[in-house]
Amino acid sequence: MSVEHTSKRYHLHISGIVQGVGFRPYIYQLAQRYKLHGFVRNDGDGVHIEIEADEVKLEDFFDALEKELPPLARVDSIQKQVIPLSGSLGFRIVDSKNSSHTTMLPADVALCSACEAEMNDPENRRYKYPFINCTDCGPRYSIIQTLPYDRPNTTMAPFVMCPTCQKEYDDPMNRRYHAQPISCYECGPSLLMLDLKGNHVAEGDEAIAKISQLIKDGKSVAIKGVGGFHIVCDATNEAAVNTLRLNKRRVSKPLAVLFKDLSVLKKELLVSEVESTLLTSIQRPIVLLKKTIQMTLAPSVAPGIDKVGAFLAYTPLHQLLLEKLQRPIVATSANMSDTPILTDAKEVLAKLSHLVYAVLDYDRKIEHACDDSVKMLANNHLLSMRVARGYAPLSFSLKKRVKQAILAVGANQKNTIALAFDKHMVVSPHIGDLVGIEAVDNFKQTIADYQQFYDIKPKVIVCDKHPGYESHKWAKALSSAGSNIELIELQHHYAHTLSCMAEYELDEKVLAFCFDGTGYGDDGTLWGGEVLLADSQNYQRLHHLQTFRLIGGEKAVKEPKRVALAILFELYTIEEIMMMDNPACLAFDEAQIRTMHKMYEREINAPLSSSIGRLFDAVASLSGIVQTLSYEGESGLMLEQQANRHRDESYYPFALEGEVISFKSLIAEILQEKDPKLIAARFMNTLTRMIIEIAQRYPEFPVILSGGVFQNQYLLERVISALNTHEIRYYIPSVTAINDGGIALGQLYYALHKKKEKNE
Ligand code: ZN
Ligand code: ZN
Ligand code: FE
Repeated sequence: MSVEHTSKRYHLHISGIVQGVGFRPYIYQLAQRYKLHGFVRNDGDGVHIEIEADEVKLEDFFDALEKELPPLARVDSIQKQVIPLSGSLGFRIVDSKNSSHTTMLPADVALCSACEAEMNDPENRRYKYPFINCTDCGPRYSIIQTLPYDRPNTTMAPFVMCPTCQKEYDDPMNRRYHAQPISCYECGPSLLMLDLKGNHVAEGDEAIAKISQLIKDGKSVAIKGVGGFHIVCDATNEAAVNTLRLNKRRVSKPLAVLFKDLSVLKKELLVSEVESTLLTSIQRPIVLLKKTIQMTLAPSVAPGIDKVGAFLAYTPLHQLLLEKLQRPIVATSANMSDTPILTDAKEVLAKLSHLVYAVLDYDRKIEHACDDSVKMLANNHLLSMRVARGYAPLSFSLKKRVKQAILAVGANQKNTIALAFDKHMVVSPHIGDLVGIEAVDNFKQTIADYQQFYDIKPKVIVCDKHPGYESHKWAKALSSAGSNIELIELQHHYAHTLSCMAEYELDEKVLAFCFDGTGYGDDGTLWGGEVLLADSQNYQRLHHLQTFRLIGGEKAVKEPKRVALAILFELYTIEEIMMMDNPACLAFDEAQIRTMHKMYEREINAPLSSSIGRLFDAVASLSGIVQTLSYEGESGLMLEQQANRHRDESYYPFALEGEVISFKSLIAEILQEKDPKLIAARFMNTLTRMIIEIAQRYPEFPVILSGGVFQNQYLLERVISALNTHEIRYYIPSVTAINDGGIALGQLYYALHKKKEKNE
């Protein structure tokens, strides 16, 4: 006996990450399954669906809709509305209609297992095809020129699909239905090997063979990845790695290593189950992993430290190359220092020809540069050090609509920008340090691109308070050009706090520990060891590290021995210091110490600072671990390294004198100790103890940890476990960068809340 049901027709508007992720064929297949009539359409503001059927079938459809989403899709909201019946039969996928531009940009995705299997199948027409992809994998962000995400709006537009590809593209039941970068040997991009003069010397298979021979011979080459070029060499060849370092003028900063698959990687590095999942995820980030004893990687990959940044081949091209090579490769961004990654073979040849012997290029343009992402696990907490390929642009949905678009321009190091508009917050991938014209140009270009993507003109701009930051200067110039823009200057460490609050959507008072390098303070000194009581509108500086002088300003940031000496000047007389048998003091001769003391006393180019990052430098110097840095964060890594060799749970005495966290007894004890391993462990245990003691004074507020210092695995693991033991509620950034890469999001969050009255 059949029951009669009434038919209904619905209009659904779904927003989120629903384009370029196989969402329409997914809806089509569901519609087939439940025998629904209507259509699905992509639009600038998401996916629109009209469906008509009897109520029971519709209910089944609604039940299934969010349960079986394609792997890359994310639904932020579904607006459902009953509309008049139309009676039309069948279900169709209809073409995009251009309207607004507010659909989120999808990120680039690593080769999926279905495509990998086809690539390794000699019977398949894409056997060994270096650009194989489908709806579940392949480039996205890096090839998109404008939204909506359709092939003509990507850098795949010049490649006209062959009839076979077109058939796959048009078939809603095919895995490659509307996979925008779809191609094959017939119709897709081609691989080209270039010599240093830019001549094409080989193509296709032969190019891969020749490039891998160069790598085997110990040479460095440039290889085009998804979001930019890598400089690559044999990671097991010490001489090759050393040459690359020498040419790149990268003395000892660890280099990332690319492996063919997990089984190869596991022979070299220790991998937990969570780390395996992370390494093989569709984002394939670089993950910091501990070395194994039997490691065969060249020592100079990560000299002096027991960790290596490792990742797995994420494009078909990398897979094919590593298959041929049968060994891991160093894969470092093609740039000099921390400037933007290069995306064009001509640029690589013009700027980096001293680094490489040849270039492996292909003729699909990279529209947007995107570095590799970097992640780490500490006590099962996932930490982001660089948010880029696979994750970025990072988007968050807002509960309420923003009336005026807001732009936040971030900090100066590890810059990112962020935008709020409509019901979205978007953070750009890592742009890099804003040092030099090219980096600043890239920063400006990213702002222009994002305004175009989302078709917005921000009326509110938030920047860091630091007058020397390029991002600050840019924002200031724009707002003073009479462009009717409201400018908000936000304190750096408050922005760190807000960044974490934004990620967890917190709108309550928090106790934030901002342990950082340096950031411009409200009093004009350089902060970085701050305990803030903050909410989304305001903050109060509760405690801060005792101040000391950075003698020589910027120079002190590169020379821990200067910071150590300055800290000693705070506590001891120059005569006492002259008598000290300490590595920091011995790093200077008497005359130098006197000169430094004069600068200190006269306060010449010696700004005051309360930075914990600099305190790490001082401790590294006083314990004789490092006197001059060759890269940012080196002293932290070195102290971590030492502490791991001598696990010790004891800590130094410390005192809270009102607002001030005194380092007097800490330094006195360190001067008595000779073993750097013990100093390192006890120093970081002391910081842990200090966080807990302060947190216990304010039991009503949750703790926030933010700032670059917490990238220290030893410290972070200890702090997390102590917070757990003492049952203190806490939040640590995870998907957003804990370092200055997170500043833009914090700035944005502040403006969103400040604007509350106007926006509601
Ligand atoms: Zn695929
Ligand atoms: Zn084709
Ligand atoms: Fe910072």
